[in-house]
Amino acid sequence: METPAFLDRDRPDVPNLVVPGGVTPFYLQGSPVRGRLVRLGVLADVLLTRHDNPAPITRLAGKALALVAALASALKFHGSFSLQIKGDGPVRMLVADCTDTGALRFYVRTDEDALNALLAETPKPTDRELLGNGYLALTIDQGAETERHQGIVDIAGDDLSSMATHYFATSEQHACWLYLTCQLTDAGWRAGGLVLERIAGEGGTHVVGAETDDASWETATILASTLSAREVLDDTLAPSDLLYRLFHEEGLHVSQPRALAYGCRCSRARLVEVLHGFPEEDLDHMMQDDGQIVMTCEFCNHDFRFPRKEVAGRTQ
Ligand SMILES: [Zn+2]
Repeated sequence: METPAFLDRDRPDVPNLVVPGGVTPFYLQGSPVRGRLVRLGVLADVLLTRHDNPAPITRLAGKALALVAALASALKFHGSFSLQIKGDGPVRMLVADCTDTGALRFYVRTDEDALNALLAETPKPTDRELLGNGYLALTIDQGAETERHQGIVDIAGDDLSSMATHYFATSEQHACWLYLTCQLTDAGWRAGGLVLERIAGEGGTHVVGAETDDASWETATILASTLSAREVLDDTLAPSDLLYRLFHEEGLHVSQPRALAYGCRCSRARLVEVLHGFPEEDLDHMMQDDGQIVMTCEFCNHDFRFPRKEVAGRTQ
């Protein structure tokens, strides 16, 4: 069994923060609708501010975190759900993932010159302008015993919500309605969203006709569209109250909320293993003037320092 993060002495000095009610699953009785309300709360600020990104990139990253948090909460086994977007825009690569226990992390790689050029011209670029053309992949990894599932689609649409909707419609042939938001509020960065999924049948309690199903799905998406960013990001508004506001006439059933947590899995011990795999010559090249090798975790932006003379390279 893996050592819990807070007991792992090889962990860097990063926050071990848990937000208990980060994801609120629900379903609508009598409708083919299942959903999740996601609210990262203070976790959004803690994760996003570890990186010195301009606001438009922080907003995109926050929405990506909300998306993977929503999707990972549907995992039935141990594993993780990861989003990877690779484009030819100023954001070259965005990776966000979330485990079945709600451990979240992300990183963004940018082309700084291209980003500065875009921001000089368009101070508030769309997600699409940041990402350009490329692809979006979602991967479900549920351990060694199960096959990894990955779907890939072209980047389509102006914002991450529509890119993900397009993914589900084409790659999974699955109707989804998504709203994702991330903003700098008085309380710091906040991110969240609402995801509705159209499911086959409805909990098995009664069989309704296809037309009724279409109508119920449409009603649910119309109600969901009335949601505002302010409501999603307001820490003082209970998730169940917000869901009640939207769906109280649609047979709303709120399920047990799930936690989200600061989820970088980097550790000193693991990085030492990585260094052991390099030939001595490469390790010499990595060494800085002060005799140290520095490895930075892309996810939590933590610098790990290793004295070169304490690291043995690969022996052939
Ligand atoms: Zn890390």
